[in-house]
Amino acid sequence: MDIKVTRNPNPAEKPDPSTLGFGKIFTDHIFMWDWNIDKGWYNPRIVPFENLSIHPGSTVLHYGSEIFEGLKAYRRADGKVQLFRPIENIRRMNNSAERLCLPQIPEEDFMQALTEFVKIEEDWTPSAPGTSLYLRPFMFGNDESLGVHAVHNARFLIIASPVGSYYKEGINPVKIMIEDEDVRAVRGGTGYAKCGGNYAASNRAGERAEQKGYSQVLWLDGVERKYIEEVGAMNVMFKINGVVVTPMLSGSILPGVTRKSIIDVLKSEGYQVEERLLSLDELVAAMADGTLEEAWGCGTAAVVSPIGELCYKDHKYTVNNGEIGELTQHLYDILTGIQWGKEEDKFGWTVEI
Ligand SMILES: *Cc1c(COP(=O)(O)O)cnc(C)c1O
Repeated sequence: MDIKVTRNPNPAEKPDPSTLGFGKIFTDHIFMWDWNIDKGWYNPRIVPFENLSIHPGSTVLHYGSEIFEGLKAYRRADGKVQLFRPIENIRRMNNSAERLCLPQIPEEDFMQALTEFVKIEEDWTPSAPGTSLYLRPFMFGNDESLGVHAVHNARFLIIASPVGSYYKEGINPVKIMIEDEDVRAVRGGTGYAKCGGNYAASNRAGERAEQKGYSQVLWLDGVERKYIEEVGAMNVMFKINGVVVTPMLSGSILPGVTRKSIIDVLKSEGYQVEERLLSLDELVAAMADGTLEEAWGCGTAAVVSPIGELCYKDHKYTVNNGEIGELTQHLYDILTGIQWGKEEDKFGWTVEI
């Protein structure tokens, strides 16, 4: 693939790393690629960062044909920049595309686009501890018509944003509210796809939890409201009686790269890991009899996010005295160690740019 590069004539000043939040500052360029049902993919290009111009009848604005990915480029101590398991994001994006009738992206072309784009924006990868360059590939349906059908035109883009450390004030366990009204996804729906619509549907419960002083919701399954699914936009894991239990990928759960990596690390260290249905009743019983030892969410942004309190119908349960558990801390150290190149990458997960 021949990517045409137009350099930004007015590159921005790099921000002070202490002011980086999440996704507020963008780099100097965008990768863009268009698709048409007859032509296929055409005109791959890297252009100066700019606003998009789209037709007011564009499919994405009315029917929500949109999918995305999230991964990071990490600056190692030797100055080189690396990605963490990008092939997993590429494959997941194609699974999401299949679900929403958006076009498939050939894996090698996707990888080339990512690496060429990151090379061009390499100077934007910050080096302060905990910081990284967040990469956001996304695709949307772009037919200029209000007809409802699988799209005939789409656009794929990659944008990037230098992001700060998730844990500036140290790793603080979060308080989670168990949501028994709204559901995030159902089997047969789009729960396993990383699509914008899932997020739009999650906001109401998230807002309600926030108003009550909780930082995320714990989602239950959409049919029986009985089984644990995810926490906010992260996968969730529990250490019960020495065994790590995480909801199995049932179709309504997003298959996280962090989830998969943690399972691999745990198994390599001899831990017993169970991917299975985990009912709220079982979790409540484990909280009541003290066998719930640790609980954490996991995802690219935070890596792991320890859970210090769970609230269900006004009953509050404290997990591990509201402190980060030993295993949670260990998993955080191992994964971030590999990502920032401080630990040996014995799994072969990193890709140097
Ligand atoms: C992206 C995402 C995750 C975490 O996936 P990672 O690949 O680990 O970042 C979990 N749940 C939802 C709903 C997500 O969108």
